[in-house]
Amino acid sequence: MSPLFVPGPVDVHTEVALAQTYPMMAHRSAEFEEIFHGAENKSRMLFGTQYRVFLTASSGTGLQEAAVRNFANNTVLSCANGAFGNRWYDVAITNGKEADKVEAPWGQPLDPDKVAAALKVKDYEILTIVHNETSTGLANPIAQIAAAAREVSPDSLICVDAVSSLSGVEFRMDEWGIDFILTSSQKALALPPGLGLAATSDRALARAETVKNRGWYFDLLRLEKHRTTNSTPATPPISLVYALETQMDRIIAEGMHNRFTRHSEMANRVQHWAKNRGFGLFAANGYRSQTVTTIENTHNLDIAALNAEIGLREMRIANGYGSLKNKTFRIAHMGELVMKEIDELLSAMDKFMA
Ligand code: PLP
Repeated sequence: MSPLFVPGPVDVHTEVALAQTYPMMAHRSAEFEEIFHGAENKSRMLFGTQYRVFLTASSGTGLQEAAVRNFANNTVLSCANGAFGNRWYDVAITNGKEADKVEAPWGQPLDPDKVAAALKVKDYEILTIVHNETSTGLANPIAQIAAAAREVSPDSLICVDAVSSLSGVEFRMDEWGIDFILTSSQKALALPPGLGLAATSDRALARAETVKNRGWYFDLLRLEKHRTTNSTPATPPISLVYALETQMDRIIAEGMHNRFTRHSEMANRVQHWAKNRGFGLFAANGYRSQTVTTIENTHNLDIAALNAEIGLREMRIANGYGSLKNKTFRIAHMGELVMKEIDELLSAMDKFMA
């Protein structure tokens, strides 16, 4: 396996990749329904929920759209301190919602008190928050934001994007009072791209019943009707469901706690390396992501040349996102990666810098 240190798509374990080659089944067959049920049921532990997880043939952005279409007739408050928080706001606006932003500078966490203050200004139907800003390598304090939001605006549904963190970091959706958590398959979950997962509370589904124009494909009430018979309204991504079931068995065998520890140890190693080499870290201390580190390009490294050199060993890191290109670069430490591979990358980077 050639390690990719980019924040998705990441390497897929051979066993999981091979699971996709099982023969096709009729999706309305008892045989497939059993696999679908297994995959959906096991995936709940990643979110920390007793509720349901919708599996969609889409990437994560589709589920950002599902949230604004299903839970808001009109008003959305979007937390934004990075590219993907901005995207969710754009998704709300382009779906005709009246969306406002509560912001923090990129690299700084959202302040729960500021979010609470913004929620007092108007009756917002939903609050959208990105947990792990893949653009900046910052993890927002979701539990604290959710608690602050619930206190001042108990009727606002709390929707979280955990695209680049779910399964690398612990989530306690039910305990934290979160209504909707979405993720994509191609990041910490280490599946091929194309599967969306969205854990959804009962109260969120009840809200959807009051919302008009939910659309068809991502109508969560339609998805729920089919989910209760282990199915989907349209054809599911069968191969990816096979892969998810296999990956869930691997995650259970590793142990969730061990998986989170592996991610945080790799994050610490990368962050210490960067500091020891005189690089700055883009995200504020105390809020650094466990799955991707955004490093300030203090030494003006030529990222394309670096990738060309480490590419000879089939490794690759990511340049900075959007306007942060070349000013920062990103090392992902998520999915199937292990410390030995992180060490190999860091020593290859040392050689390049020498
Ligand atoms: N949210 C975050 C935090 C992301 O990192 C990404 C993609 O990198 C997305 C949303 C969009 O996900 P997708 O490309 O699966 O639609």
